[in-house]
Parts: sequence; C-alpha cells; structure tokens
Amino acid sequence: MSKAILVVGGGFAGLTAAIEAAELGHDVFIIEKSPWLGGRVAQLNKYFPKLCPPSCGLEIQFQRIRKNPRVKFFTLAEVTGLSGSKGNYTVTVRLQPRYTAPHSVDFSLLASSLVNEVDNDFDFGLSKRKALYKSMPFAFPDRYALDAQSLSKADVSRIADANFLNMTEQAREIELDVAAIVVTTGWKPYDVTHLANFGAGNVKNCISNMQMERLSSSFGPTGGRIVRPTDGRAPHSVAFVQCAGSRDQNHLDYCSYICCMASLKQCLYIAEQNPDARITVYYIDLRAPGRYVNVLEKVKAQPNVSFVKGKVAEAVQGRDDKVTLTVEDAVRGEKLTLTHDLVVLATGMQPSLAGDNPQLQLPLDEDGFIAGGEEVGIFAAGCARMPLDVTRTAQSATAAALKAIQTVKGGRRHGQ
Ligand code: SF4
Repeated sequence: MSKAILVVGGGFAGLTAAIEAAELGHDVFIIEKSPWLGGRVAQLNKYFPKLCPPSCGLEIQFQRIRKNPRVKFFTLAEVTGLSGSKGNYTVTVRLQPRYTAPHSVDFSLLASSLVNEVDNDFDFGLSKRKALYKSMPFAFPDRYALDAQSLSKADVSRIADANFLNMTEQAREIELDVAAIVVTTGWKPYDVTHLANFGAGNVKNCISNMQMERLSSSFGPTGGRIVRPTDGRAPHSVAFVQCAGSRDQNHLDYCSYICCMASLKQCLYIAEQNPDARITVYYIDLRAPGRYVNVLEKVKAQPNVSFVKGKVAEAVQGRDDKVTLTVEDAVRGEKLTLTHDLVVLATGMQPSLAGDNPQLQLPLDEDGFIAGGEEVGIFAAGCARMPLDVTRTAQSATAAALKAIQTVKGGRRHGQ
C-alpha cells in the first residue's frame, strides 16, 4: 500500500503543500497541466505581503523541490482516472509530449528562427510567442516546451533536423498509487469577454489587472514599462474600475478578495514609474483586510491618486484611443462621463475548476470552488477552495498537507 501524497496543481499552493509534506518525510507527486511550475504567482510583477517579485519566493520553493528527492513532479500532466478509496488511491495521469529532451538545452536560437507566432497566454495576449518557448527567464523546470499545434509548415521543416528535439514522443499514461490527494488547481482571471459593458476585451486601452501585472513586469511584454497597448506611450491618466465582474449576480456573485489590493499595488507601480500620471480609483467598496490597511493609507497619501465612490456602468472606446467611462457617483448623486488614457479592470478570481471538474468529481459549490472531499482523503487548498492572497494560500496549503499526512498515518496504522 503506497503512502505517497499526490498534489494536483503546481502553483504556489501546490508547491507549498508538496514541500511541507516532503520535508516531513513523505513521498510526494506533483502533477501540473502546464509545462512549468509556479502558477499565477509567476505571472505577477510583485506580490504581497512584502511586494517581492515572484523570482524571489518561487525560486526558494523551486530550490527546495530540486534538493528534495522525495518530490517528483510531472508537467503537461492531467488526471484522467481515479480509483480506490481514502488511504489507497490509484490515479491515472496523462502526460502530454514536451518534445524537448529531458535536460536543459538552450533552444533560443532555434526558437527565434521559427516564423509562426501565436498569442502568448502567459502575457494574456499582450505579446506573441513562437511554438518552441519558455514562459519566463526563471521557468522551472528550466526546459523549453514545443507546442506542436503552433508550428507552421515552414517551422516544421526548420526543426526537422534539430538536435535534442524528439518529434516521435507520444502522449502516455502513468498510474500513481497514493494514500491522499491535495487539490490545488488554483484560479483563473474572470474572462473579460463576458463584460460587454466594458467592451468585452475589444477596447484596446481597457486592460485587465493581470495584464497590468504583465505590463509592469521586467520580463513582461514591455520590459516593465507601463504603456498603452495601442501606441506604446506612457499614460497620463489611468483609471481603475473595481469589482469588474465581481459582486455581480450576472458574473461572479462574490467578493474576489484580492482585487482591491491588486489595484492599490498597481497605483504604486504607476506612481513610482510615472509620478505625473493622474490615477483615479472607482469603487463601490474598498477592501484592505488586516494590516493591508497600511497600503491603503499609503496609496491615499499619494498626491496624484484620487478615489471616487461610484459604480462604473460602461467603458467605451473614445477619441485618440482614450477610454470613456460612465460612472454613477454615489456621493454626489450624479452621472459622470470621464475620459482616461488607460483603464484597468479589477477583474476577479474564478476557480479553475469552474465548469471543468472532469475526473476528480469533487463537490463544488455554485461558483466552482471545492466544497468537500476531506471525508474521502482529498483535501482542497488555496484558491481552489476560496479567493485568497498568496500568504493565506500558503497557510491553506500547509493545513491541507498536514491533513493529508494524517490520512497517510491513519492508513499506515490500518495496514499494519
Ligand atoms: Fe470588489 Fe475589492 Fe472585493 Fe475585488 S476585493 S470584488 S474589487 S470589493
């Protein structure tokens, strides 16, 4: 009977749960559906509480995994089957081909020689990538992946004789025997194409908060310069639209917890980079939990930041690629029409499993967050359970790892 623990999802929660369990002497498998570990945190410019860049916290996690032989991880991997019961599961995992050799080869020259380009999901469409690519400079594992679907005919002939590419690699399935499962499948940003009143993604200078993170990142599409997507110029006037799709029964019927703090953080990015820019935050409620109230006070003290309590009803394309907002000012009781160079939608957090819970068949609540499973030895953590910031995600992952360990120990007693 295996006493290993499976962690489904290799973001910050999954890494934390895996390390906690492995450092207490347990064998752990991580499976991650993308080609690299790190999850959403890897896409941020900085994260709370210390406003560190992701290279800082994630690199420490990656080091701990590299050094711990008890952790084995599989990327491009998804659960396709589950049998057994608490303490004794067999999990079938499908591994998609990566096509690159199982060690670190610098494919940068070959990658740059490829012709076809597709939208780069890592930058939320703000940049393009080739079929042979790495998500970021500190990607872990430090290996390129080949997205065969994105190769053009010319690309196929360019890679035909390349060393270290194995184009015969096929998808395959493996089985893992585990005693307990920790599910850390994380979150996805709410899809802006659902927000018709904000242009459904078609107003070019109306971007999402996660796109703002990529714009601000030194390894993002502009090398960290916060500029308008349409003309590459620094904006003089920036607006944040809070609760864009959250606390709205037509979209996400809950508070996403992180998006007020994300906007406050991004006000600081802009103020630091462009002190002359005027920033307006339109809000119906501002949530700065616990000690984060200090950040709210810091942003309020910025001379060029103002707060308007009011619901933004609409964002439309204005003249000169500006964005025109219609705002119902809740204090003055009037409707305002205001124009900004750049608008950032504080979009919310939706669980990755919303609308997609195929194999684990976990009980989900009406919003798609995992709402059970502990009785069968499956423990949800992080944003798969509820909207959380990175600190609370790590706490939740540690708690799930300890519960999984208790299951392993219970199984051991049972088996003895
Ligand atoms: Fe709205 Fe702020 Fe809650 Fe996000 S955290 S849903 S912006 S109140």
